[in-house]
Amino acid sequence: MERREFLVGAGVAAAAGGVAVLATAAGEGPASAQGPLAAAGPVPGRTPQGQRGTELLRMQEDIKRALGKPEGQRRWVMIVNTKKCTGCMACVVACMAENVAGPGVTYRTVPEVELGDYPNVSRIFMPTNCQHCDNPPCLKAANAIAPGAVTKRPDGIVTFDYAKMKDPRVAEAAKKACPYTAVYIDQGKRWTEGTPAGQPYEKTVGFEYGEKWDRAGGGAPAGSARKCHFCLHRLNAGMLPACITTCDGGVTYFGDLDDAKSLVSELLARHQTLRLRAQLGTEPRVYYLADDAGAAETLNTCLACHRSGF
Ligand code: SF4
Repeated sequence: MERREFLVGAGVAAAAGGVAVLATAAGEGPASAQGPLAAAGPVPGRTPQGQRGTELLRMQEDIKRALGKPEGQRRWVMIVNTKKCTGCMACVVACMAENVAGPGVTYRTVPEVELGDYPNVSRIFMPTNCQHCDNPPCLKAANAIAPGAVTKRPDGIVTFDYAKMKDPRVAEAAKKACPYTAVYIDQGKRWTEGTPAGQPYEKTVGFEYGEKWDRAGGGAPAGSARKCHFCLHRLNAGMLPACITTCDGGVTYFGDLDDAKSLVSELLARHQTLRLRAQLGTEPRVYYLADDAGAAETLNTCLACHRSGF
């Protein structure tokens, strides 16, 4: 499918979704199987809902199998298919809610990327987060000041020690070293800054790294450098990362590459992939499907922005 066709399809999806929401707001209830969504027909390029459900169940089984192995025998990876992303931002919102992110902290971003030259231009959405590099520049930079601030776990997940990451020198070093602009410094602010009281959603505790964090009470991770950790706390409880379970478009996949039966192993065997800035030797754990020249063009466009540190 041509990218132009895909974008047109995404527009149809958004329009159809809007009709459904309006119907609900008017008290007519959600769109039925015969309602506006069905009338719009299947959206080209999008994973059918039933298929995504099957994929989620399969990935769930994959991680359960992986958790049955020693940590060093799991190789967690993420795969992204930019062609299916409609920029709904559900993954971004889910991530922020799951990890109780304050203003200025976004583990996952979905920038809009423009392709081509005027007047032959199009736009796509490009989900991205920490790449969990096998050779992480953030680790070298931060640990040179505070050993143990960053850890590369045997299963590949790169973790931050929030106590050590409270030191501004360490936090800034990690942020500056990351070639993927994946590190954020939590200034401890709340979304309702300047109003008399915070909202309940700002006062919830987080459970990153399997611990209880009272950010609203002034404790870590307020004041620390933060980034995506593949929802390690959820994984340890046998659950997929929040961004995966909320990705309705079937864009993002997660699993154990050291398991030949996993969905991610199957996808990587079947598709051409690219990794962002792989020429730096960072060995990222996030793969982007790139079966055609258009996808390669997309990724190169993204790298132009990443180089300038947007
Ligand atoms: Fe570190 Fe950035 Fe690589 Fe994540 S993407 S492991 S923060 S260097």
